[in-house]
Amino acid sequence: PNGRPDEPVPTPAGQAAHEQAFSLAGRLALVTGGGSGIGLEIARCMTQAGATVIITGRREEVLKDARQALGARAQYLVNDVCDLASLEGLIEQIESTYGPLDVLVNNAGINMKKPALQVSDEEFARIIHTNLNAVFALTRACARRMVERRRGVILMISSMAAYYGIDRVVAYAASKSAVEGMVKVLASEFSAHGVRVNALAPGFIETEMSRTAMNSDPDRKSRALRRTPMGSFGQPEDIGRAAVFLASDAARYITGASLPVDGGNSIGF
Ligand code: NDP
Repeated sequence: PNGRPDEPVPTPAGQAAHEQAFSLAGRLALVTGGGSGIGLEIARCMTQAGATVIITGRREEVLKDARQALGARAQYLVNDVCDLASLEGLIEQIESTYGPLDVLVNNAGINMKKPALQVSDEEFARIIHTNLNAVFALTRACARRMVERRRGVILMISSMAAYYGIDRVVAYAASKSAVEGMVKVLASEFSAHGVRVNALAPGFIETEMSRTAMNSDPDRKSRALRRTPMGSFGQPEDIGRAAVFLASDAARYITGASLPVDGGNSIGF
C-alpha cells in the first residue's frame, strides 16, 4: 500500500523467505538477567520472534512476574552467574529439559559510579567477576555444546563505556572492553564450527541501572542527551529488536562484530 502502483510487489514466496530469515521460530534462547531492564525486553522480542526463552536472575519474585508478562513461551530459572561452579549445571538442566540451546545472551551485568581513586579492590573485583569472569564461564559451558552441534549464536551486551572514556566507571569500562576483545577471539575460534559471536553496545537506555546512574548526578542526564545526536534515550526494546536480528539467520554472515545501538553516540562526543 505504501509503494507506487507501478512498482513490482514482493511475491508471497519472497515475503515468506524474508520473514523466515528474521524469525526465531523453533529456537531456544537463554537470556541472563532476563527478569528486568534490557534483558526482559530482549526476552520479550525473542518470544515475539517465535523463540522459547529461558530467563535467569537472582530474585525469584522478579523472574516470576517477568515470566507472567512474557507468556507461555518463556520459562525462568533462579541462577546467580557469579556462582561459576553452577553454570555447567545450568546449561545441562536447560538442555535436558528444553532441548539444545540455539542462542545465549550474556546480558546480566552490574555497574557502579565512583571516581577511580575511590574504588576498592573488592568493588573492582565484584564488577569484573559479574561482567567478565561469569560471561566467559557461561559462554564456555554453552559454546562447547554449540561447537559440537555446529550451530549457535552468542551475544554479549557490551556498552559504549568500552569505546569511550566515561568518567567514574573504571571497572565497568574495563569489563566491557574485555568482553569486546573476547568477542573477536571467540568469533575467530568458533567461525569454522558454525557458531557466531557478536556484541551489542547500547548507549543510554532507560532502565533501572541507567536511572540510578542519572539520579546520582543531576547534570548527567542533560549531558547525556547533549551527547546523543538523536536527542533522546533509547528504550530496552531497541536493544531487544537488534538482538533478534543478530540472533536470526538474517545475520548469518555477521560474526565478531560490535553493533552500537545508541542514537548516534558512537559518531563521536
Ligand atoms: P538492570 O540493572 O536493569 O538489570 C540487570 C539484570 O541483571 C537484572 O535482571 C538482574 O537481576 C540481573 N543480574 C545482575 N547480577 C546478576 C547475577 N549475578 N546473576 C544473575 N543475574 C544478575 O540493568 P540493564 O538492563 O540496564 O543492563 C543490562 C545489560 O545491559 C548489562 O550488561 C549492562 O551493562 C548493559 N548496558 C546497559 C546500559 C543502560 O543504559 N541501561 C547501557 C550499556 C550497557 P537480579 O538482580 O534479580 O539478579
